[in-house]
Amino acid sequence: MRYARVIVDLPIDQPLDYRLPDLPVPLGSVWAVPVGRRKQVGIVVGFAAESAIDPARVRPLGEPLWDGLHLPPKWLDLCRFAAGYYHYAWGQVALPALPPRLRRPPGKRKSARTEAAAAAAAVPYPPDVRPTLRGEQAEAIQALAAAQGFVPHLLFGVTGSGKTEVYLGAIERVLAQEPSQVLFLVPEINLTPQLQGRLARRFPTVPIVSLHSGMTPGERAAAWIQAHEGRARIVLGTRTAVFSSIPHLALIVVDEEHDASFKAQGGVPYSARDLAVKRAQIEAVPIVLGSATPALETWQHAQHGRYRLLALAQRAGAHGLPPAIEAVDLNHYPPEQGLATPVREAVAAALERGEQALIFLNRRGFAPVLRCGACEWLSRCPHCDAFAAYHKAGAALRCHHCGWSARVPASCPDCGNQDLEPVGQGTQRIEETLREAWPEARIARIDRDSTRGARGLQHAEAAFDAVHAGEVDILVGTQMVAKGHDFQRVSAVGILNADAQLVAADFRAPERLFALLTQVAGRAGRAGQQSRVLVQTRFPLHPLFAALARNCFADFAQEQLDERSAARMPPFVHQALLRATARTLEAALAFLEAAARMGSEIAGRHRVTLYDAVPMPLARLASESRGQLLVESARRADLHAFLDAWLPALRERGSSGVLRWDLEVDPQSV
Ligand code: ADP
Ligand code: ZN
Ligand code: ZN
Repeated sequence: MRYARVIVDLPIDQPLDYRLPDLPVPLGSVWAVPVGRRKQVGIVVGFAAESAIDPARVRPLGEPLWDGLHLPPKWLDLCRFAAGYYHYAWGQVALPALPPRLRRPPGKRKSARTEAAAAAAAVPYPPDVRPTLRGEQAEAIQALAAAQGFVPHLLFGVTGSGKTEVYLGAIERVLAQEPSQVLFLVPEINLTPQLQGRLARRFPTVPIVSLHSGMTPGERAAAWIQAHEGRARIVLGTRTAVFSSIPHLALIVVDEEHDASFKAQGGVPYSARDLAVKRAQIEAVPIVLGSATPALETWQHAQHGRYRLLALAQRAGAHGLPPAIEAVDLNHYPPEQGLATPVREAVAAALERGEQALIFLNRRGFAPVLRCGACEWLSRCPHCDAFAAYHKAGAALRCHHCGWSARVPASCPDCGNQDLEPVGQGTQRIEETLREAWPEARIARIDRDSTRGARGLQHAEAAFDAVHAGEVDILVGTQMVAKGHDFQRVSAVGILNADAQLVAADFRAPERLFALLTQVAGRAGRAGQQSRVLVQTRFPLHPLFAALARNCFADFAQEQLDERSAARMPPFVHQALLRATARTLEAALAFLEAAARMGSEIAGRHRVTLYDAVPMPLARLASESRGQLLVESARRADLHAFLDAWLPALRERGSSGVLRWDLEVDPQSV
């Protein structure tokens, strides 16, 4: 062999060839390789006796990095699969999948190894209390423990039904077999501290590492290497952790598998949930996807027996079933300062009983828009097709899409009128309203504004701790409060702005809303009988509310699947979305129309449908205009064959007229 084949983080189809040095060059080793006039970090993925390049022009491999770090063949396989599936270059998946510190040449920094050694000691935790498992929990653990090789499972159970206990039971069986390791994926970084605590209490002597973006580069590299060397037996992380190197992987857990956060934003738009399933297949290990409201794709697999369904029908312990969700008809109860009378009454009743109330509103700031009472002026973002929200603290207008902000003008920029009025409700305004209504109550707000900054995660944890400790009577928050936390004493929940999603054009909006409402409702009622969950809506007759009132995901899922089947929507068809960004919308659409013409010449052979190029929902964002083109096929293989032919043609055409374009396979919003 004379040549090493190396992948780098560039959009190129084939690995690059380099002349092998007189050193041993293991497969999966990491090198600083010359590319053009610069050095790039590359991974050796193969060897060859011949190169298509003129031998005189092949350059030497460069310098080895991270001596002794060899990425395992199955890890390379996973990255290659993802690259093929999402139609990116292998290196565009593999290099960004490494923790940031390992994908840069080491300077004078400490080696990651020294830091790993420092972080390795397991902290002892007091032992936890183990509940006596219910039959269905024990059966689920048994099924997972007995699974041989690749067996995907869906663990379906409402919040509080004891899913985490099932994961812990299955993990315990795996840990009993040295040196097996477990990968545990969660959607949000703020779920990791709580879960890490629970894992550490259950397995006090087991080394556990977390991997998420809230860690310093040093911590992350150290944790990654502990997993890679097999010393960490449990690897707990957010979506990027699906790419961690885990040599003795024996079980994968994906909690809240339906969560949109598993879909990567920026870079390769992969689904960590889907890649986790693929990884389980590559590694021939069982995987369990858990949810109270599975993604319809996942549910469909379970219905067809492709995933084994493990259902937890009852709520664990003394909790009983979660409270049914009631729709509050806003046509009948017009809201006052955003709160309808039944919601106010439910909050008052909870406070009277000495219990807690939760008000959920998916909009931070004081009000979503500021209006001039004299003319038509509204506070628009100058860079987006969106309003800039009014933040009372700091008297600022802020665009939540691009980050633009400005001081609130002293008078209307159009007519000079001084009465500018906030329109609509944000969490800050609701907080103020609650303080006026219940001056004695202790009120806390949790949203991205209240938890901003470097120590945001700690602030959020402290706020959650205060709620758990009973130091808060009313909690108001955005979706940050919807996930993960059990609030033992919350017995009234008000959900204020569900309608925004109910009227959304996206066909997945009802699915997402059902999941969100179920999740918010799941925060309540652990304390007993009198819990109420109220959703303010102008559409109380929407079928979604009927299913929610019956607490029946299965009915809702079936209705949705029937609708999607009739309308030929996913999961009954497979989609990819081509997006273009340009200075003007015309330029973006012109690029997409040209792409569509090129596509229709090859489409016929592959049985795919190309739709019209259209503006994206938020067409202008941060002073750029965005359009999209949807491609769809009844068969996944047809779609991919088409993309394999179409994308090289597009790349050849280049990006003239646009700033950039990209493709998303299995887009989550179209
Ligand atoms: P989920 O992950 O489905 O929300 P958890 O596993 O966190 O549910 O369980 C919810 C609560 O019920 C936890 O406090 C847990 O300790 C408790 N629990 C779980 N299983 C049982 C059981 N069999 N008996 C009593 N309590 C249980
Ligand atoms: Zn005006
Ligand atoms: Zn903006």
